[in-house]
Amino acid sequence: MPKVLIVEDEKAISNLIYVNLTAQGYRCFCAFDGKTAADMIEENTYDLVLLDIMLPEIDGYELLEFIKYRETPVIFVTAKGTLEDKIRGLRLGADDYLVKPFQIGELTARVEAVLRRSGITDTVYSLFGVEVNVKSRTVVKDGMPIDLTVKEFDLLLELIRNKNVALYRERLYEKVWNEPFSGETRTLDSHIQKLRKKLGWEDHIKTVFRIGYRLEV
Ligand code: CA
Repeated sequence: MPKVLIVEDEKAISNLIYVNLTAQGYRCFCAFDGKTAADMIEENTYDLVLLDIMLPEIDGYELLEFIKYRETPVIFVTAKGTLEDKIRGLRLGADDYLVKPFQIGELTARVEAVLRRSGITDTVYSLFGVEVNVKSRTVVKDGMPIDLTVKEFDLLLELIRNKNVALYRERLYEKVWNEPFSGETRTLDSHIQKLRKKLGWEDHIKTVFRIGYRLEV
């Protein structure tokens, strides 16, 4: 699995990213200041660097030049959220730009996208004996392939990327069907039923009263 360097001086954020990406199979490494990050980058090869901008010792802009020189993809993860900041970051050569605070599901999706564009990985999620390959869009349970429709697969990914989070029906619908939620829940509900049945996840995909659904891991 890809090696990800997390350069972040706020321990809580670093830990949040570390725990979530590790759970998805990435090999994660942490640097809490710019100097340590530079040393680690010099001595090792990473597939991706998640880079804060405001850092002790050497800031993210300076580090970026150093990292790009080695052709490693970089995502800025920063509180600097103005349009000027974003344009500056992207112009300097960052592959993507994510503003804090962020949803962990969005970070995961952006990590996958950048790695995919760099041709580095097939992201594979592994949960309850089920393996979900994002690139080939295949699902295997206990060695047996499982046939999912396009929407079932997208819905499954959305649940996995936001695992343990209660997701509103509206949000899930709009994300997966890519159209405004009409208030009609039957389509979404029936897709959830089918997913539960096909994966044997009746106990894992929880119904959250008055809200929607949660994948409990
Ligand atoms: Ca910082």
